[in-house]
Amino acid sequence: MSESSVVVSQNIGIEGECVRFLYRNTTVALIVNVLLVALMTWVLWERIAFPYVQIWFGSILLITVIRFYNLLHFWRTNPSDNEMSHWETFFFVGSTLTGLLWGVTPWVFSASGDYETYVLISLALAGLSAGAAAVLGPVVKIYFTYLVVIMTPMTIWFYVQDGVQYTQMGIMLTIYIVAMFITGKIYNRVLLNSIDLSSRIIAAKEEAEAANKAKSQFLASMSHELRTPLNAILGYSQLLEFEQSQLPEHHRTHVKEIILGGHHLLDLVNQVLDLSKVESGKLDLVIEDVALKRIIDECRALIESSLEKYNVSLQVISEEPKSLKVRADFIRLKQVLLNLLSNACKYNHPGGHIIIRYTQVEGDKIRICIEDDGIGIAPEKQSKLFQPFSRLGQETSTIEGTGIGLVIAKQLIESMDGEIGYESHSDKGSVFWVELGLVK
Ligand code: ADP
Repeated sequence: MSESSVVVSQNIGIEGECVRFLYRNTTVALIVNVLLVALMTWVLWERIAFPYVQIWFGSILLITVIRFYNLLHFWRTNPSDNEMSHWETFFFVGSTLTGLLWGVTPWVFSASGDYETYVLISLALAGLSAGAAAVLGPVVKIYFTYLVVIMTPMTIWFYVQDGVQYTQMGIMLTIYIVAMFITGKIYNRVLLNSIDLSSRIIAAKEEAEAANKAKSQFLASMSHELRTPLNAILGYSQLLEFEQSQLPEHHRTHVKEIILGGHHLLDLVNQVLDLSKVESGKLDLVIEDVALKRIIDECRALIESSLEKYNVSLQVISEEPKSLKVRADFIRLKQVLLNLLSNACKYNHPGGHIIIRYTQVEGDKIRICIEDDGIGIAPEKQSKLFQPFSRLGQETSTIEGTGIGLVIAKQLIESMDGEIGYESHSDKGSVFWVELGLVK
């Protein structure tokens, strides 16, 4: 796309937004207009001879009804940016006619009005013009035309009358008009800037969301593509392991390494697949009443081998009733708790301790804490937690990991309307917790 076409389409976008702004704020303006028309008719009813006020009242009401209809039609059709020009023309005609009907009042009513009546009318007109800046501000052409048709007939009328008080009123209204032109221009610039800024922000957000979706789709399809050959590698190396008696000693070690590396890679691919599913919103959660005891017992059984491998002990402590239930997806909550327990094992010292503690907290929630007395996380590294592929310096250690477990855990818990958090001190240990809704 050439640069000029980008500029043109951006301008169309801003112009479209300006017209939408006009229509968005017109309801209140039309209601105020009707109220003022009714009040003015009431004031003038007795003072002005029949049928001027009645005709004026009827015409302005008719235009307002047409404008209301146009407004409804606008929101119903929700026109695109390219269709805005005739909506703008409609608006222009409506507001100019309304302004004109207000503007001509002193000329129409001049037969029987008195000075007090005209001061009252000019008050209403000045108020309407000032208020119109807020509604018509984004399209300067519409605002300035409105200002001219509503204010100049009255101002001229004051100038052509005999009497110094009329001239004084004329001068005052001239000052008003100039001031409103200047403020209208300033307000227009500010509004256009903010409309431009917000449409840029929306466009950037949409672009970022599209890019993120594309990334998730790419990761998901890549992970699928990787899994198939990886399973074949693992399958064949497991066959070799099965027949290891026929292999020389150094080949047995190689096969073990292939299986270990293969499992690690499969774990990484599975986690990336999970992450992309969570990020693209393709993960279907089944939220149900989950018995805490059952899920903790299952996690305990599954983490047993890691406890042995890292030589750490596990204890469950709680004073809460054993029958407690939380609102969660059973399988995904187990995945989160296992990830936290596995971290508590991996980032611990031999002989370390892990405690699972659950308590009721404010707002009918249950907080499940996984505490360890392991290596902890240095304060300067904590801001990197819950960021994808961030291992906080562990990438150089021998501890296996991918750096995405916590990211997935956070997304999963948040999709269950829960919260996840932590507290950690270097060399003292960490507490990772999740909070979920309690079933009463
Ligand atoms: P992984 O463990 O696969 O690296 P995670 O996303 O589960 O990925 O954790 C990210 C990082 O957070 C880990 O690499 C580790 O540095 C740190 N971490 C997580 N849990 C603990 C813990 N209980 N104690 C100390 N550090 C932890």
